[in-house]
Amino acid sequence: MKILIIEDDEQIIEAISLALEIRWPEAAVVSARLGEKGVQLVETEKPDVVVLDLGLPDISGFDVLKQIRLFSDVPVLILTVRSEEASIVKGLEWGADDYATKPFKQLELLARIKALLRRRGAAGVEPPLTVDDLTLDPAGFRLTRSGQEIELTRTEGIIMFRLMKNAGRVVSHSEFAEALWGTDYPGISDSLKVYIRRLREKLEEDPSQPKRILNKAGAGYFLARPD
Ligand code: CA
Repeated sequence: MKILIIEDDEQIIEAISLALEIRWPEAAVVSARLGEKGVQLVETEKPDVVVLDLGLPDISGFDVLKQIRLFSDVPVLILTVRSEEASIVKGLEWGADDYATKPFKQLELLARIKALLRRRGAAGVEPPLTVDDLTLDPAGFRLTRSGQEIELTRTEGIIMFRLMKNAGRVVSHSEFAEALWGTDYPGISDSLKVYIRRLREKLEEDPSQPKRILNKAGAGYFLARPD
């Protein structure tokens, strides 16, 4: 397992490296302090997962992400300074798979990295699902609506898969947490909210008046059945 950290804050690189050394000694860490260098390392080192800071000295983390996505589908976890929803949404839009906000809890970050790796290995085991006019092929998370392809990130694909598999039934926050990160966290509902908003923007006619992905306050979300 190889993890590439693209981050200009030496202390954060050290903190992540140290946490990995203690809790996951078989993982190798490579790091870059500049975005351009980071993109190069994705190409030459072929990491299994990338942790990417959005605020880098040379080019922005968004540009790094864009360049990586031109040639690689390596899972990318973005680090943002505050829980700035706009940056998170933009990062996910540009192909990040997950995010963590600084300051982060080391254990949570490690769990998220591991979950990204697990998901990568587990893709494609389930057959395609159809609900109403939606069809989702879990291999590559390809979603189509009446034959039209809707692009999903891996995280969105996993959420959609849960919703479609349980259409009409509420999927709880902790069920989503298990599917996404392998474990439950306090604060999971805030993370979910961001992803659900993105999915609604892709699927709903009017995302502010959702008719497909519905919320059950305090419990979870469910996909409305056609009837
Ligand atoms: Ca930074």
